[in-house]
Amino acid sequence: MVQARWPDGFRCRRCEGKEYGLIHGRRHKRYQCRSCRHEATLTAGTILGATKLPLTTWFLAFYLVGQAKTLASPHSL
Ligand SMILES: [Zn+2]
Repeated sequence: MVQARWPDGFRCRRCEGKEYGLIHGRRHKRYQCRSCRHEATLTAGTILGATKLPLTTWFLAFYLVGQAKTLASPHSL
């Protein structure tokens, strides 16, 4: 999984730093950049891979979010 996210090894999204420390969280371990302290998880940015929920649940969630935006837009204009 690390290979998929960082093919060339860890790379901080914020400062491009390669030095990192491992933080063992309750649910999954995190990577913290040693230069800027930015934390990165393996699943950050890949929300669909971050959960074991069925894909249909996500489609429903996205659908509902889309509905909410449609409903909210007239008021925000
Ligand atoms: Zn960094």
